Amino acid sequence: MDDFMLDETARMIRDKVREFVKNDVDPEYLRRMDRDEIRYPRELYEAYARHQLLGLRFPKEYGGREMNWVAECAAMEEIGYLGTAAGCSFVMPSIVGEALTKFGTEEQKRKYLRPMLQGKLVAAEALTEPRGGSDFFGASSRAKDMGDHFVVSGMKRFIVGAEGADFFFAYVRTNLEENAPVQARISAMLIDRGPGVEVKYLYGLMGTRGGGTGRVVFRDVKVPKANLVGPLHGGALVFNTMMIPERLTSAAPCAGGMKAALDVAMNYADRRKAFGRPIRKFQAVSFMIARAQTLIDASRATVYQAARAADAGAPNLRRIVSETKKFVTEAAWEVVNVAMQVTGGIGYTDVYPIERAVRDMRLAQIWTGTNEIMSAMIQHDLYEEFRTERGRYRDFEKDAMHDDASEKIFDDDDMWKVYEVEA
Ligand SMILES: Cc1cc2nc3c(=O)[nH]c(=O)nc-3n(C[C@H](O)[C@H](O)[C@H](O)COP(=O)(O)OP(=O)(O)OC[C@H]3O[C@@H](n4cnc5c(N)ncnc54)[C@H](O)[C@@H]3O)c2cc1C
Repeated sequence: MDDFMLDETARMIRDKVREFVKNDVDPEYLRRMDRDEIRYPRELYEAYARHQLLGLRFPKEYGGREMNWVAECAAMEEIGYLGTAAGCSFVMPSIVGEALTKFGTEEQKRKYLRPMLQGKLVAAEALTEPRGGSDFFGASSRAKDMGDHFVVSGMKRFIVGAEGADFFFAYVRTNLEENAPVQARISAMLIDRGPGVEVKYLYGLMGTRGGGTGRVVFRDVKVPKANLVGPLHGGALVFNTMMIPERLTSAAPCAGGMKAALDVAMNYADRRKAFGRPIRKFQAVSFMIARAQTLIDASRATVYQAARAADAGAPNLRRIVSETKKFVTEAAWEVVNVAMQVTGGIGYTDVYPIERAVRDMRLAQIWTGTNEIMSAMIQHDLYEEFRTERGRYRDFEKDAMHDDASEKIFDDDDMWKVYEVEA
């Protein structure tokens, strides 16, 4: 229906993923994930790879399809129907792959990127620590430089895929000098599951179950220097690059996830009768549905705007993807709650999957940077742009009926200046 938003390649991959999502994923598999009977969905991950759906943007020689962000977002929207845990295993190669294609050595691309896109290796991204996720640069996991290798020790928390991962894309502090500048403290590195890497599957999650979320402890793990990704102490550079896929891959599947919940609610509202007529004939219900669809359309528009900005390498990309992550995840939360409200009491039971969508969707405002952190980024970048762009536009302030400079007082000094002048 909304084909005009997508080019031919994006439509092709969207249709392919739609067919896969519709026909190839057994509902019982998703139920087993939600019951925590499946701890990591390896079979599903391998199925994505068999259909050549992983890392769509990356070079063909490493198993990608050299598509753009618009196409990848179209694929992710469809994957959103499967829920956040299945979605996360789909997007992880896109996030880790971004760092490997942009900063990885040829050896790293052959050893990690290609097998990952072929479904032979599972990656997890290890940023968050028990002492805090938002204050990422304050990471205290550390790596001692031993010449040809590092010895890494520390702890990571809430790592999706901890349970299934063959390797971890981890950020650890390598610059151990006490006063090292915040932006020059950490490095990104690839840590293989092996001696010294301990994984504990211990969180009773509200939703997003079956994705392997766990705690990871690095206990004096030997990591070859060849596994450093990007410059030594240059983790900030890698992190800033990865934040783009982090946020886009959080937002795009939500657009599909909210539509999935609304579909169920619309079907219900059409069939369920109260006071002798279908409940959708009540304005209170139909207006909720209208509002939800408006949010879905606005979310999709925002996602594809951000995808285009990423494809174009727009200078204000960080602000745009941060806005997208925040707006779409908040819209998704509203829409899944509308879906629950429309379905009434039965929507709160597990007779419908809306309760799972609500549990899943709550996380989207928290992970990959909380929405408060998104707001912090948005206003920061906006002021930077505002300062450079001022003067390009008509000075609207001058259109005031009384453009009285003596009333434009912003602090004490201004007031005393006016006081002196007017004396
Ligand atoms: C199920 C799940 C899966 C996850 N997957 C991964 C993963 O795969 N890899 C990974 O590395 N991490 C992962 N995370 C971690 C997630 O990204 C963090 O939980 C998140 O970034 C917030 O960090 P925190 O939990 O330490 O909260 P805190 O950083 O302690 O924040 C607590 C509250 O304080 C607010 N706050 C903090 N600082 C500021 C500020 N400067 N301005 C305004 N408000 C602020 C936050 O917005 C939040 O509301 C996952 C989390 C969960 C729950």
